[in-house]
Amino acid sequence: MITAVYPGSFDPATYGHLDVIRRASLSFDSVVVGVLHNSAKSPLFSVEERVNILKKATANIPNVKIKAFDGLSVNFARDNHAQVIVRGLRAVTDFEYELQMAQTNRVLAPDVDTVFLTTSLEYAYLSSTIMKEVARFGGDISKFAPPQIVDAVKAKLYNG
Ligand code: ADP
Repeated sequence: MITAVYPGSFDPATYGHLDVIRRASLSFDSVVVGVLHNSAKSPLFSVEERVNILKKATANIPNVKIKAFDGLSVNFARDNHAQVIVRGLRAVTDFEYELQMAQTNRVLAPDVDTVFLTTSLEYAYLSSTIMKEVARFGGDISKFAPPQIVDAVKAKLYNG
């Protein structure tokens, strides 16, 4: 049984994140998505909201679980008996930070390995930040996330 954790902010999830989750669910027996509580960034959605959004968006994938977590990804991996941390790589701009994180995590937890999934090309430009930025200025974000998430972003930004 190989379990992978996929940690991140997911504020909120985009088609890019959902693509990584779906593909990880094909490669690993079990995938636990970890929604980071103590993000230094001040998130648009609370951790409970981000967890609920992801639960609904992944309800059709049986071997995926969504949990909130705090602290180090390697501890989240160990708590969930995971051998692997999954991260997505979009472009070379992600690479330096992700490599540094993976190397740090290897020092902290040599028994947990990091696996990178390269993004599908159609989502290579996409980030939660870009999606929120477009939505803030009234742009159409329907190509960035499924309808439920689009509605949640609009409700949050336009209705407070
Ligand atoms: P973090 O704040 O930890 O970077 P994010 O929610 O922004 O959290 O991203 C979580 C993970 O998902 C990261 O590994 C990131 O590179 C990856 N990711 C984000 N957007 C995409 C995308 N469009 N395609 C593939 N991976 C992505």
